[in-house]
Amino acid sequence: MVSNKEINNNAAELDGMLKRMHEMVIQRKCILQLSNIIFVNVKEGQDLHSVVNYRSPSELYKAVDLALPELGTGVDGTFDLIKKTLDYSVNSWNPRFMDKLYAGTNPIGVISEFLLGVLNGNCHVYHVSPVLTLMEVEVTKAVGQLLGMGEHANGLFCPGGSASNLLAMVTARNYLYPSIKTSGYIPRPFNPTADYGKLKVFTSAHCHYSIDKAALVLGLGTDSIVKVPTNEKCQMRVDELERLIQESVERGETPFFINATAGTTVMGAFDPIRSISTIAKKYNCWLHVDGSWGGSAIFSQTVREELGWLDGSGQADSFTMNPHKLLGVPLQCSMVVSPHEMIFPKANTLAADYLFHGNPYDLGAGTIGCGRRPDALKIFLAWKFYGSDGLGQRIDRALQASADFTDLVRERKQFELVADPSLFCQVCFWYVPKEIEEQVQTWKKDPQAWKTKMTHVIHLLHERVNHSGDFLVDHAPLDNLPHFFRIVINAPTVNVHRDLGALLDAIEDASKNITWNEISL
Ligand SMILES: *Cc1c(COP(=O)(O)O)cnc(C)c1O
Repeated sequence: MVSNKEINNNAAELDGMLKRMHEMVIQRKCILQLSNIIFVNVKEGQDLHSVVNYRSPSELYKAVDLALPELGTGVDGTFDLIKKTLDYSVNSWNPRFMDKLYAGTNPIGVISEFLLGVLNGNCHVYHVSPVLTLMEVEVTKAVGQLLGMGEHANGLFCPGGSASNLLAMVTARNYLYPSIKTSGYIPRPFNPTADYGKLKVFTSAHCHYSIDKAALVLGLGTDSIVKVPTNEKCQMRVDELERLIQESVERGETPFFINATAGTTVMGAFDPIRSISTIAKKYNCWLHVDGSWGGSAIFSQTVREELGWLDGSGQADSFTMNPHKLLGVPLQCSMVVSPHEMIFPKANTLAADYLFHGNPYDLGAGTIGCGRRPDALKIFLAWKFYGSDGLGQRIDRALQASADFTDLVRERKQFELVADPSLFCQVCFWYVPKEIEEQVQTWKKDPQAWKTKMTHVIHLLHERVNHSGDFLVDHAPLDNLPHFFRIVINAPTVNVHRDLGALLDAIEDASKNITWNEISL
């Protein structure tokens, strides 16, 4: 049981727990070692062999005591639970965790989370988080400037990319059609005096679903989303964008928001931002760039100066970036930046005098929430630690590893790339088991059979690979294609031959253990 005496001695209690956490996390489970850039590895024999000790929910209920007690269990009971949590969680320090767009963090990432925990600050008003507020102001300005948004660049942190996209859309709507803030959304022809018809959003067919969700939350409805077709490189087709906008205008609707994706979630495509911005200006639309995944690539000099994937970002009205994905900053860390001065409070503020007393540094006024976690601190510290140069090198390394892994996949028999070369830091492919090679050739003649049957094959293989605990990878859909493996190359510790070659071996081994001829496909 926890006594009041213990409760009042916070400093001593924290000290004791930190020592235990140190033993448990640093010495037992994860060795945190800093070498030239980033180095984090898993102890237990630098154990690459267990990303997760996978358990089904019912098994996990048996393994971990998840009952909530009436009487507190104190340090010992809580630390038993912490140990179990480490034992049965995904170890994202392992570079073979390649399932999602984020990877494990790094030592300065853990320190930044720790500092946030100690401070327990809140970034709604300046006077409760003065330093954290200025960090948010400075880091959003610096990111905006890196994107070419100029001296007035500013922004806000949101709890994730989806929330950043939502804030961008609500800001655009409130700014362009401010009457909606008070009177609600009543477009022409229902409201003949309205200065807008049915509001429409344009985004590529490969965009993230958070764009649809934002329209849903705003009360525009998902039918207000127009999905623009993509070209062979999975980028939004600008000619189709303009054609669809014209058609919408002819129907009496009001196109107001264009979303360009910088790094699509499945394939990693970058929409052509500069040409899209020309269309946005022509039709008086707000241009948002969803760079949740690929936006951070701006830190790479190669991307900025040679590849030009983010060219035109300075023309955007808002831009989402998630340092918690490509930059290894701990979850969550997402921001939306804009070149327009004070745009977020201008569009979103309400008179809540009990909280906001008119200080322009009270950043919460620009959000759609109230209290906010000071996530800016985490990218701020990472940037101080590594420099923009170091963050850029992380991107370059991931791009090189993705290209090398693509070569590896291309050379292996039975593997078939979805995009060759890979578009960004995801490598996508199918595996065609030799035993059913001929069948697969016949499926390919019928798009529906090819899609459903090959999807089944991939799901079977995927399940075996993931349940082994040696790797965590994902499968993904795209257009009318069968699902395929999507391998995300992000962890700076990933080694092409040791880890990625081994993954291809693991897929081959999984296939060998399936008697394909006995499965009805
Ligand atoms: C991951 C992702 C999002 C959503 O970000 P969350 O932080 O998970 O909410 C939005 N857009 C794209 C393109 C993404 O890849």
